[in-house]
Amino acid sequence: MMREGPGSRAGYHRNFPRVPTRRYASLMGTPNKPRYRCLQCDAFEERCYCDKYCALCQSQIDIRLCGDGLLYCKPCREACDYKTEDQSNAATR
Ligand SMILES: [Zn+2]
Ligand SMILES: [Zn+2]
Repeated sequence: MMREGPGSRAGYHRNFPRVPTRRYASLMGTPNKPRYRCLQCDAFEERCYCDKYCALCQSQIDIRLCGDGLLYCKPCREACDYKTEDQSNAATR
């Protein structure tokens, strides 16, 4: 037994959900996390195989990629308040 209201046949599919929106496409599991890219090779830090030396003092000790895409040693990062990717992620909690 089927109950069909007037006009249900013609007007039905206008309430149908449309094709699922691809709202997860841009998230890829890391929402809100800034990703820093190397200015020289345009890769993320873990993919960057550039020579790691400080852009300021040319030190090669404890070099990390910072928000401006350059590599800095720890003393220079602390002196200039540059943050590495994971530091800025931790700070935005
Ligand atoms: Zn690089
Ligand atoms: Zn330095």
